[in-house]
Amino acid sequence: MPNASRGGVAQALDAALGAGTGARWTDFLGRAREAWDRTRRPLLEETQWPNWQVLAAREPYPALPVRRLLRRERRATTLAEVGELELREPRLRALLESYALAAGLDAERVPASAAVLPFIEHTFGVWAVRGGLRALADAVHGRCVERRVEFVFGSEVTRIVEKDGRAAGAELADGSVVEAEHVVAGIAPAVLARLLGGTAPWPADGVPPRTEGAARLLVLLALRGERPDGTVVRTVLHSPDATAERAALAAGRLPDRPTVTVLRPDDPDRVPGAGHEAVTLTVTVPAGAEVPEGYVAELIDRVGAAVVPELRARVLWHETLTPAAAEEATGTPGGAVPAPALAAGGGRWLHPANSTALPGLHAVGGWSHPGGGLPHAGMSGALVAGLIVEGAGFTGST
Ligand SMILES: Cc1cc2nc3c(=O)[nH]c(=O)nc-3n(C[C@H](O)[C@H](O)[C@H](O)COP(=O)(O)OP(=O)(O)OC[C@H]3O[C@@H](n4cnc5c(N)ncnc54)[C@H](O)[C@@H]3O)c2cc1C
Repeated sequence: MPNASRGGVAQALDAALGAGTGARWTDFLGRAREAWDRTRRPLLEETQWPNWQVLAAREPYPALPVRRLLRRERRATTLAEVGELELREPRLRALLESYALAAGLDAERVPASAAVLPFIEHTFGVWAVRGGLRALADAVHGRCVERRVEFVFGSEVTRIVEKDGRAAGAELADGSVVEAEHVVAGIAPAVLARLLGGTAPWPADGVPPRTEGAARLLVLLALRGERPDGTVVRTVLHSPDATAERAALAAGRLPDRPTVTVLRPDDPDRVPGAGHEAVTLTVTVPAGAEVPEGYVAELIDRVGAAVVPELRARVLWHETLTPAAAEEATGTPGGAVPAPALAAGGGRWLHPANSTALPGLHAVGGWSHPGGGLPHAGMSGALVAGLIVEGAGFTGST
């Protein structure tokens, strides 16, 4: 499918899945747009509403009333039901549900408001950073250094220091204390609570912290031979048994034949050298899952059979990034990855506010409002900057 082209996607769907499927998808995106328009400000651009319960209670997706012969009228309440009642065609439903899975969410549990996930992608497009995500971190670091920000790497914070009822700094693993007017914590809620000596970081009437979240398994492949011209950048290889995959994830087990996203970017800065290709496989797995090498070998074989011809013969080397490695790098238990905040569902899919119960302590990043994924985590940074510079009355974009 073409990137960020509604018309192009509709044509591609009609050609691949049958006449009329393109229009059905386009109509669905039109309804998803309404959910986006209703939630873009509170769930991306503004600090958390004090009356967040409104977002928790109201479903912003205008589900179609569907009446079947001799049955009562139904409206979708979950994303899977949007697929069942409004998209109907099994492969179109699989396309829809793959957006939930890619965000680590279960389409059968997540509210219909998750329709904003495909809407965002189909409207604003898929993006990648040339040279890989590391290049983005390097650019942000370079810009901060220019602005005289001082970085201290490799120094673990072991406690957030409180003085006179305010956050007053951070104690480091070597026992030293760095004093601060404001402390900004970009870590998982359980870690933040630990740094506060077990005290709950947010007030009892706020959005409760999210503890669950699936992890990702990444297999980075360096291949002999160039990427053929015109290669599809992203292919989703669906699980042949989505029900079994969902059940395995819910039970905390590795799915036998999981959905695999295959990325083949056209980026000369990411290959081991001329005449090579870099391919990344991403699989949603339960947090904390142990991944045997045989599991990775099977993934490579499945992708070789369906997406990248001669894959096994072309592999120069591969590296595997497991949930354990993500836990090691981020401190998040099980290497769980936070999902973006979503409306409805009783508030279960929201993340706690950027302001905390302790004045002077701000929560930032994927585990706080408005949730995970780089764009959302980035917005939380902008909101916290506003709260610090403008004060507690700051509400975000106007
Ligand atoms: C394998 C994988 C693939 C992903 N793919 C995508 C993707 O394709 N697109 C997308 O948008 N998002 C993706 N994500 C999610 C994205 O990486 C996160 O949403 C984002 O990194 C969250 O940023 P953050 O700043 O909240 O936390 P993190 O990036 O986790 O940063 C937290 C930092 O805090 C440090 N830290 C923790 N505890 C302490 C302590 N006590 N003292 C000092 N430092 C500490 C950690 O070392 C870490 O550097 C992926 C995540 C993973 C793991």
